[in-house]
Amino acid sequence: MAVPYRLVSREERSSTTVIHVGATAIGASEFVLIAGPCSVESWEQMMAAAQAVRAAGGGLLRGGAYKPRTSPYGFQGLGEKGLELLAEAGAAVGLPVITEVLEPSLVDVVSSYADVLQIGSRNMANTPLLRAVGRARRPVMLKRGMASTVDEWLLAAEYVLAEGNEQVILCERGVRGFEPHLRNLLDPTVVPLLRTLTHLPVIVDPSHAAGRRDLVAPAACAAIAAGADGVMIEVHPDPASALTDGPQAVPCDELPALAARLRAVVRAVRTEALACSI
Ligand code: PEP
Ligand code: MN
Repeated sequence: MAVPYRLVSREERSSTTVIHVGATAIGASEFVLIAGPCSVESWEQMMAAAQAVRAAGGGLLRGGAYKPRTSPYGFQGLGEKGLELLAEAGAAVGLPVITEVLEPSLVDVVSSYADVLQIGSRNMANTPLLRAVGRARRPVMLKRGMASTVDEWLLAAEYVLAEGNEQVILCERGVRGFEPHLRNLLDPTVVPLLRTLTHLPVIVDPSHAAGRRDLVAPAACAAIAAGADGVMIEVHPDPASALTDGPQAVPCDELPALAARLRAVVRAVRTEALACSI
């Protein structure tokens, strides 16, 4: 049976697409750590986070300047000032930056500060936005919609490629489940499934899946064992004061140890894979 998507299909390209962002390669054999705060809040907060991400061997710094909040009364992000702080912090430590773009009219301004454009879960099926980032000259990280099937997700990615932008990274961040202890339901199986369906690289976000900092490390380990090209983790220098997603933020000073633990899993999994193929 013919697949409903064409350009993103594994049949179109047999090897995984590698996306280069500065010195970071996503989809190559290297494991990529993306980390940073949920929201950009201040210069001090961004610099502390950037230094921690750098010290942990991160490849990309994250930080939201335009936040898609459930409540209109919640912190909506610093807007362009946030983009400026993010870019400044990234430049200070020599890391490229990723941030969310909420609407088509913001694609140009976000592209002028960010190295990678993030499409959030709530916007995965926003077709005008998908077309707009498809025309941008920046890689796009497309998060899975919280109630989307894999085919819907891949068709959303197809919109971006169909506009001429082939640099798309998929990000699994969990889907809506029925378990109130967990923010979302992480789906590690989707990683090897995607490998069979698409050539696009796959990142896993254990922070928005778990919603609790104590579950971020084990969820990230599961993602790596499942073969993810990298993980995206929310960190904060002082999680108790975070304006958004404090409960899931890993304290910055714990990131280097967490990264070392993740790299141990990377090594173990790769050794195992090698042993299996002999
Ligand atoms: C985020 O990564 O900042 C975010 C809002 O996540 P999601 O779109 O997955 O909810
Ligand atoms: Mn968040």
